[in-house]
Amino acid sequence: MTIFEKIIAREIPSTVIFEDANFIAFEDINPKAPVHVLVVPKRVTARLDEITDALEVGALFQTAIRVARESLGLQDYRLAVNVGAGAGQVVFHTHVHILGGWADRSADAHHDEIGHP
Ligand code: 5GP
Repeated sequence: MTIFEKIIAREIPSTVIFEDANFIAFEDINPKAPVHVLVVPKRVTARLDEITDALEVGALFQTAIRVARESLGLQDYRLAVNVGAGAGQVVFHTHVHILGGWADRSADAHHDEIGHP
């Protein structure tokens, strides 16, 4: 069982931002931006490139966009996926990072903040 399955099962506490039948979004425990939320499919795959159904990939990103805009009220934000340990992936349960909330700086200044070992 991945740590994110334990969060989905409420065996580990987290601050849940959004949940539906297929996805959950919760705050990252170690935020790398003023707003840092993880969007996690409930169907378990280890990494993004294991999802072969384009509709499923699309639904994941559509959900991340909805959470960023509607749940978090972000106008500008960054979506990031680390695919594999060499890219900085630590939790092997596919997820999209939503990063945002920078008030007064260009997002360009933040493109190296996560996932680069
Ligand atoms: P990755 O590097 O795999 O793309 O990102 C994994 C993320 O999961 C990291 O940003 C890390 O802070 C977060 N994380 C790891 N364990 C937990 C946990 O138990 N709870 C929460 N909310 N986030 C976690």
